[in-house]
Amino acid sequence: MKLVRFGEKGKERPGIWMGDGRILDVRALAFHIEDYNEHFFAHDGMAQLRALMGDPGATYVPAGSVRLGAPVARPSKIICVGANYAAHAREFGHAIPQQPVLFSKATTAITGPFDPIVLPEGAQVVDAEAELAVVIGKRASMVREEDASAHVAGYTVLNDVTERVVQKSAGQWFRGKGFDTFCPMGPFLSTPDEVPGTAGLRVWQTLNGQAMQEALAGDMMFGIPFLIAHISRGMTLLPGDVIATGTPPGIGSARNPPVVLKQGDVVEIGVDGLGAQRCEVL
Ligand code: ZN
Repeated sequence: MKLVRFGEKGKERPGIWMGDGRILDVRALAFHIEDYNEHFFAHDGMAQLRALMGDPGATYVPAGSVRLGAPVARPSKIICVGANYAAHAREFGHAIPQQPVLFSKATTAITGPFDPIVLPEGAQVVDAEAELAVVIGKRASMVREEDASAHVAGYTVLNDVTERVVQKSAGQWFRGKGFDTFCPMGPFLSTPDEVPGTAGLRVWQTLNGQAMQEALAGDMMFGIPFLIAHISRGMTLLPGDVIATGTPPGIGSARNPPVVLKQGDVVEIGVDGLGAQRCEVL
């Protein structure tokens, strides 16, 4: 199943991506499903959605006629993993980390998968970072690696847009990673049954049609079950929380000469099987 949220920014409605050009309007059929939020994931929302799919009273909207939002409503946190692909750590001259480098993105940075990325005033060196993201489906605290998959609601695509000058000058990364629109998410949240394994998924980015990043998710140093176990050891992950698993090599600002995002650019990122985003830079 593929979950989408559609409609105006801030007023998105929950839907199911049918794959045939239609979106099932969940709230038209089940008004108690307010949104894909913590309450939804914590109260067996996925099972309720599956039941709706066969409902003869279901109503649909044409997928091409609506804006898509991020596929989860504002999570309690977005946890990101830095330097999780060895080749990306090397291109930035980072040491290979002995444990995951964790940081956070502001949840207000979240935007839809086809919305513009708006450069903040004075922006100098802005990069896009294609990432595979995991959404938590079940509260996770002190979870063992072998039990981690039971806590996953699904997978999506996340662009960890970053202003490098601010990232490096501000003492820590939060501001340079947290500007409004610096976290396009989606197009959909794919449930684990649609993703037999993440290791073979290709994570990629193109900028104005030119290939930038590409790697297999299996190349990440700290895998998803390890990350869930590691983070939940002392920090509770709530349903709906997002873990961005890190970005592959090929980042624009690490190139020679550097390539940085500028107004009018078109950034496309995707994870094979999980869909793709297309964002214009404003
Ligand atoms: Zn990142």
